[in-house]
Amino acid sequence: MTPDSAVPTTLYPSPNHGERKRGLTANAILLHYTGLATSEAALRQLCDPVAEVSSHYLVDKAGGLYQLVPETRRAWHAGQGCWAGETDMNDVSIGIEICNPGHKGGSPDYPPEQIATVIALCQDIISRWGVVPHRVLGHSDVSPHRKIDPGEFFPWATLAEAGVGHYVPPHPIEDGPRHGPGDEGSGVKAVQSLFADYGYGLNVSGAYDEETESIVRAFQRHFRPALVDGVADVSTLETLRALIAAQR
Ligand SMILES: [Zn+2]
Repeated sequence: MTPDSAVPTTLYPSPNHGERKRGLTANAILLHYTGLATSEAALRQLCDPVAEVSSHYLVDKAGGLYQLVPETRRAWHAGQGCWAGETDMNDVSIGIEICNPGHKGGSPDYPPEQIATVIALCQDIISRWGVVPHRVLGHSDVSPHRKIDPGEFFPWATLAEAGVGHYVPPHPIEDGPRHGPGDEGSGVKAVQSLFADYGYGLNVSGAYDEETESIVRAFQRHFRPALVDGVADVSTLETLRALIAAQR
């Protein structure tokens, strides 16, 4: 195994990978936090053949970069999920684990040197694979019912300033019409269509069900981090509309 990235890398091979089923395609980057206290614990888990999980890369708190799986291989980081109709995200993505204990660990800040490495790595992957901005995603974007990483404390705006990912300034939180859990009807349908239009995997049913709520939360974690409440308010929907407009 040789490093794929021009960013200085320590090779730390994991046995947990398979063949990319549709050949050499990587058209998305998925960002994760490890949810563990130390990088040693994360490396152990990502290389444990019993755990059957891995990622292509791990970035430790000091900004050190480890490559565990060659980019040409399919790492096992996404699990069940969906984005823009694609239900096998492992097959089309490159996974980056970022050392941070996450929500359960009190959501400490990501050190600048760690984020600098994440940015350099993403820029490098984007340039080599041609990943478009709106396919640099969080795990929670593709698996909103199961996952909350890397979440609303991850510095998405800092990445976007460096040209990594899709971002518009969040629309301010203000009073106005809103849809939330239990609502039904054509208004809810219109809201669901917008989220589906951007890429989220949901049924446009007209019922503001648990699935819809978890997708709205996932969206807020990534794009409107000031308030993660699962309610489709004016700020959430205007931010989403601006992203859809910027996607075209
Ligand atoms: Zn994850």
